[in-house]
This record gives sequence, C-alpha cells and structure tokens, in this order.
Amino acid sequence: MSLKVGVIGTGMIGTDHIRRLTQVLSGVEVVAVSDIDAARAKAAAPAGAEVFDRATDLIHAAAVQAVVICSWGPAHEEQLLACIAAGKPVFCEKPLVTSEAGALRVMAAEVGFGRRLVQLGFMRRFDADYRRLKAVIDGGSLGAPLLYHSVHRNASVPEGLYTSDMPLNDTLVHDADIARWLLGDEIIGVEVRVPRRSSVGKDLRDPVVVLLHTASGALVDVEISVNIGYGYDIRGEVSCERGVAALPNRPATVISDQHGIRQAIPADWRERFIEAYDQEFREWIVAAGRGTATGPSSWDGYASTLAADAALRAAKSGLLEPVTMITKPPLYA
Ligand code: NAP
Repeated sequence: MSLKVGVIGTGMIGTDHIRRLTQVLSGVEVVAVSDIDAARAKAAAPAGAEVFDRATDLIHAAAVQAVVICSWGPAHEEQLLACIAAGKPVFCEKPLVTSEAGALRVMAAEVGFGRRLVQLGFMRRFDADYRRLKAVIDGGSLGAPLLYHSVHRNASVPEGLYTSDMPLNDTLVHDADIARWLLGDEIIGVEVRVPRRSSVGKDLRDPVVVLLHTASGALVDVEISVNIGYGYDIRGEVSCERGVAALPNRPATVISDQHGIRQAIPADWRERFIEAYDQEFREWIVAAGRGTATGPSSWDGYASTLAADAALRAAKSGLLEPVTMITKPPLYA
C-alpha cells in the first residue's frame, strides 16, 4: 500500500520533491499540499490532491499519514511540533529550525513521544560518492582521519536575497553535517576567516573559510565560495594517518572538443545531488511506512544549528568560538 503524504511549502524545492514523489518514486502518493500562497499550492498540487490553506490542517488531515516540510526555515519548528504531536513521521528540509532553543524543543517533543519521527534533509548522506568515502574511512585501512577538506562552491547566488550571514547559517550546515557524519565526530569549536572579497558579489562576505574543531582533535576546513561563476563544485578529501581518500569530481564524463579536454561541472545542487535526493526519499518512504524515520535526525539538526550559530559569532569576534551540546538523548544514539 502507498504511503499517503502531505507536502507543506510548494516553492522551489517543494515542487521538485512533489515531482520526485509523483513521477520518480514508488510506494508513495501525494494526497495533500499546502503553501502560504494558496495559488502556488493549487498550481503544484498533483491530480486528486487536496489543497489546504493552513499547514496545521494538512498535518491533522486523516488522509495524511506522513508529512514533507519544504516551507522556509522560520516556519519549520511549529510545523515539526504539530507533526510530532500528531504522531506522524515527517521529512523536513534543512534547517531543522532557526535557533538552539527551537532545536531543544523539537528534540524534547520527539523524545517525549518515544520514537524517532523526524528525518532531516541532509541529502549528501545519501549520495553514493559520500557513502563510498565513508566506507573507506570506517574500514580503517587508512588509519584515523586527521583532516577533512571540504569545498562548497556555487556558481552564483541571488543578489540582495543571499546575505553575508548565509554562507555561515545556510550553506555551511551541509558541510558541517557531512563532516560530523564522515568522521563520526562532534564539532566543539568554530573559527572563521574572511580573505579578500570577490568583487562579483559587491558587498557580500564571499568567500569564507571555516575551521571546524572536532572532539577527537581532527580539523575540518571548509571553503565556501558562492559566486564562483563556473558551476556548482563540491569537493571533499580526508587525510588520514596512512593515506588520503577523496570524492571523485562529478560528473566523470570527459569532454574533448575545440576548447580542449575537460570535465563538465554541474550547474547547481539539483543536478549534482539528484540521485541523493531520490535515495533520501526512498529510504524515508520505507521508514515512514513503519511509523518512524532514518538517517539525519533532530540531533543532527541541533548540531548543525549550533555550528552555524558559532560560525556567526566567530565571524564577528575573530576567535575560536566554542560549541557546547547537551548530553545526547538515547533516542539519537
Ligand atoms: P522557496 O522557493 O521560498 O519555497 C518555500 C515555500 O514555502 C514558499 O512557497 C513559501 O511561500 C512557503 N511558505 C513559507 N512559509 C510557509 C508556511 N508557514 N506554511 C506553508 N508554506 C510556507 O524556498 P526553497 O528554496 O524551496 O526552500 C525551502 C526549504 O528547503 C528551506 O528551508 C531551504 O533551506 C531548504 N532547501 C534545502 C535544500 C537542500 O539542498 N537540501 C536546497 C534548497 C532549499 P512565500 O514565498 O509566499 O513565503
């Protein structure tokens, strides 16, 4: 039987996830949609899906067995808490919430419910290249991981809409999460360095270099460049005690033409991570069908929120800003 899903937020990624849930994946049916803009929700609704004006009405609808949240970040907490109160599995796009206090409230509600219900949209964990990289590190043949170099380059960001805080509180969360996951470690401190600014983004703080200090002592350096022009380029390399393991450059197709021999670069995150988005939903559909969640959790959302908060503080202070976490609830062990 198909999992009956309601989607909240039918903007850029909500529309893409509806396409994925209706045209790519099986075992799932989009039976309801909601957006603060009713006309946008109506336009995005698949045939037969009910359109709700209010997200809470969608969450409580008897026909909706599980919920996908693709609204903007500040709306996530209220919608997550309503899903947990209703006992419905929920896939939530990142960020989990926009404050540490909000993350603690979501975790307290989920722990109180007694079972994981929340899966967070950190799709890199479902990418085949990252999974192979993690398997090499976990296999132990290279020894302990010591350094992780993460590169996050966007071709461009919308002028005026993408602000100087966003490399740190919007973009960094993907690198912080994948670093924690790859290294099996927690972030305990964050430093930020801002080199000469790119003239492309005018006053935008771009690029930035972030140093994540982990509990084991491993160091993670993250380059975030958001107006680099040539494409969406994601790289990762782990230096271990006895060797180095790295992501391949994607896509691997080699083009030879009048400009020389080169590899094409994905235009954006949709192209680079298309299979990862499909896979994260494949695994979510199975877990949600069992009344629970898998992969990135509320705890991971909490950890990335703390890293982003510390990065914002570090950009101002120029210092190593500590990250202090609560004791991990057994639900997230
Ligand atoms: P978007 O195009 O602005 O879409 C968000 C939609 O949600 C808009 O239609 C917005 O309406 C609507 N909305 C806002 N508040 C709402 C509420 N309270 N209830 C219902 N609908 C509401 O943004 P997006 O790029 O799709 O991003 C959505 C979320 O996905 C964000 O949290 C973003 O960080 C995340 N995201 C994740 C990835 C990833 O790689 N995993 C990539 C892109 C985005 P209005 O426009 O009228 O406000």
